Amino acid sequence: MDFNSFNIKVVKFGGSSLADAEHFKKVADIIHADPTRIFVVPSAPGKRFSGDTKVTDMLYECYNTVTAGGDVDSVFGRICERYNLIIEGLGLDYDLTEEFNHIKWAIGHSAGRDYAASRGEYLNGLILSKYLGYDFIDPARYIRFFDDGSFDSEVTNALLSEELKKHDNGVIPGFYGSMPNGTIRTFSRGGSDITGSIVARAASADLYENWTDVSGFLMADPRIVDNPQGISYITYRELRELSYMGATVLHEDAIFPVRFAGIPINIRNTNMPEDPGTIILSHTEMYDSKHIITGIAGKKGFCVITIEKPMMNSEKGFGRKVLEAIEQENISFEHLPSGIDTMSVVLNRSEISSCRERIVNRICNAVEPDAITIEEGLALIAVVGRGMVKSKGTAVRVFKAVADAGINIRMIDQGSSELNIIIGVDENDFEKAMRAIYTEFVD
Ligand code: ADP
Ligand code: ASP
Ligand code: MG
Repeated sequence: MDFNSFNIKVVKFGGSSLADAEHFKKVADIIHADPTRIFVVPSAPGKRFSGDTKVTDMLYECYNTVTAGGDVDSVFGRICERYNLIIEGLGLDYDLTEEFNHIKWAIGHSAGRDYAASRGEYLNGLILSKYLGYDFIDPARYIRFFDDGSFDSEVTNALLSEELKKHDNGVIPGFYGSMPNGTIRTFSRGGSDITGSIVARAASADLYENWTDVSGFLMADPRIVDNPQGISYITYRELRELSYMGATVLHEDAIFPVRFAGIPINIRNTNMPEDPGTIILSHTEMYDSKHIITGIAGKKGFCVITIEKPMMNSEKGFGRKVLEAIEQENISFEHLPSGIDTMSVVLNRSEISSCRERIVNRICNAVEPDAITIEEGLALIAVVGRGMVKSKGTAVRVFKAVADAGINIRMIDQGSSELNIIIGVDENDFEKAMRAIYTEFVD
């Protein structure tokens, strides 16, 4: 197909948008409403109601059961039932029994954890392509990873753009590709967003639409702040800061392929397709927001190592030696707030749980501090906004709002780009602090 003469949209639908037959119908209506929506990236069926289990989680359970020597019949049966309910609900004449049998056999014969997880998207993709009458394009053949497991963007782009030219339309399952030896590899959780972006770049799309269950990016997590306002326009950089810090609407790495190609992303709501959602672009100067901040996001589960030693700032190589000690345990650090006689390193608690003693010993041997402490239970909150560069006093307002709510700030870090201010609070104060900051800037 000649991409130059067409307007092309790549549309990705998340798990909640493809959780059951009713949602499949809404998805098909959205696709049929616009003939430029020609490449479709589906996730695996997500939760249909609170308390339900995502198919991806059931597939991980299958894998874990098999590796523990257990019997997968019951959980695998529930997976097949989810797909069969969708097929039935759509009135399709389609039988996936052979696929199911093969997948079950492969999971039981060392096909691997990523293979198991990827079948959620694979099977949903088969059903959606059948329902839409679109070609099925298996990403295992085109989305490639290096031997070390990192994503090979250039080979992928070359292979996939070549392939897409052969199709007038297509369904390309999200979340996975393959290793040089042919085995399946997935992105991290939520990775179908990345596939959507890769396909948008390869198709030279005009727009990457990411359809989910909220009407775009909101100024705060709706599970924490009641009815947060929507964000109409946001830059790739702001979005990355927010998604890295827990605003899970879009995977934090999903912007790279489209940013490279200058393709905007539009986050939309499958259940309210008339809502305009959020547009993500590289520059938004012409769309000034009425708020100084663009959004707030945060995560629990951090810890902070504080190292004290008088005059450390004049000791050459001090910082490097501390970071080297952490690197030797193959751990990356999140933040590095420092004073003249103290240095703090914020780390992900789950990463250091198995090696905290070793890290402390390594740091002690490397820099002989006067004192070293590890504090657990830290939550980080990022206040993000391109408007903060121009306006004075934003940090003061953040601190005052949190202090007025009776919350102690345990850490402060302002990004050098002035795009964000990050504060650390006790995990127990997390939700309260988020609400206090939101109210200060938005309500
Ligand atoms: P999908 O299954 O479509 O990929 P996700 O669950 O990954 O959807 O992302 C959408 C969810 O992200 C929303 O339902 C919402 O609960 C959550 N979320 C967290 N932070 C935000 C935010 N700032 N704006 C909108 N949604 C958010
Ligand atoms: N199904 C995968 C997950 O649950 C990928 C995705 O939904 O984007 O993480
Ligand atoms: Mg998602």
